[in-house]
Amino acid sequence: MHPLCQDLNEMSVSPVTYRARWIFPITRPPIRDGWVTVVGDRILALSAGDRLPEQVPVVDLGERAILPGLINAHTHLEFSHLTRPLGFSGIPLEDWVVEVIRERQRADVDRSRSIRQGAEEARSNGTRLICEIATLPWPGVCGDLAPEIIAMGEVLGLSEARASERLAAAAEHLRSVHGLSGIVGGLSPHSPYSTSMETLRRSVEIAARSGVGVAMHIAESEAERELIERGRGPLAERLIEMGVWRPDCFGPGTPNLLDRLSLLAQAPYALIIHGHDLRQAEIDRICQHPNMTLVYCPRTQAFFGHVPRGFDAAWRRGGRIALGTDSRASNPDLSIWAELCWLWTHRSELDWRAILRMGTVAGADAVRRADLGRIEPGGLGGLIAVDGAAVNPEGLVARWIESGPPEALTPLGKSAAGDLASALPSVCPTTPDQES
Ligand SMILES: [Zn+2]
Repeated sequence: MHPLCQDLNEMSVSPVTYRARWIFPITRPPIRDGWVTVVGDRILALSAGDRLPEQVPVVDLGERAILPGLINAHTHLEFSHLTRPLGFSGIPLEDWVVEVIRERQRADVDRSRSIRQGAEEARSNGTRLICEIATLPWPGVCGDLAPEIIAMGEVLGLSEARASERLAAAAEHLRSVHGLSGIVGGLSPHSPYSTSMETLRRSVEIAARSGVGVAMHIAESEAERELIERGRGPLAERLIEMGVWRPDCFGPGTPNLLDRLSLLAQAPYALIIHGHDLRQAEIDRICQHPNMTLVYCPRTQAFFGHVPRGFDAAWRRGGRIALGTDSRASNPDLSIWAELCWLWTHRSELDWRAILRMGTVAGADAVRRADLGRIEPGGLGGLIAVDGAAVNPEGLVARWIESGPPEALTPLGKSAAGDLASALPSVCPTTPDQES
């Protein structure tokens, strides 16, 4: 075993100070030649210079930058076994949905294993918290999962009977995850084309009563707006083919997207997923309300060939925007770091620091977790390390785009002494001695 690892293992959850060329607290400017002291996953202190906490072992990371663990504000872990997205690049949403339903019906997939695999993949890419859309009954319940998961039980169904059955399942889901370590419940009324207004209302009521958040796919395509406002178009045809069409749910005189957003705002918090087809009044409603956050999944929107009009409008408006990967059914992996790199590459005209905030503090604030997504004393942000070899922060982005995934310095999940040991190999190279 590497001597340093041995020492740290013996310290268990004793304090450790990490020194690095750069520290990115996110909520304040980057610190050059800084240090951060942690115990387990709890951040005790951070600053710059040579006045380090006394009697605390120091790990000098050299030319590295320390960031908080990343927040994935939207995914579906059940598809983590997929090796490539379903369908093809540019596939219409209504055709892709059919592929998803077919994939969900496969009997040869171990859903629990997929969820674990996806959570592990996210952790290995520096993710501290995942907002998961949980198909019910959710087989991913497991106390030792890391990162932390907000498992938002999916509610969908246009018919009264189907919706009631799903709402009961969602209420049971909230009870079943209550008190589990590292897992919090939530609700996800799926989308305007699959969930009636009444079901949305009841979902928000349950969420408000239970003190949990909601997530809803909104304005995912032009076809969705055509369905809601005119009661026709390709999504209407698909619903008729599937035998679930309800004419009273869609078309002139029925609730519009603003009505749905007003309902969602009554939940403790609401994640508005995708929103590429949102109009200015709808963006304004989201950005004005402290409970609502737009969640942008850059590579998924690119997969569908969607121009991210909603994201651009929310960006100009200065609204809170968090990042999601969506699932492997529309994305090649579950790495928020890769989403950040994609944006730094494809949207280089945007402020790179604001992009970094989308993958960290914005996601944490969206789900009311002031202890995550930032490096602040008392927080649980999780620490990750990336390339820090630049004389100023601006010089780092080009290096990050070229470098590999972040390394975990502290546990990227609920605190446990065992997690500290599992984080060590990323600080000290694993030796055969360690594996024996
Ligand atoms: Zn989704």
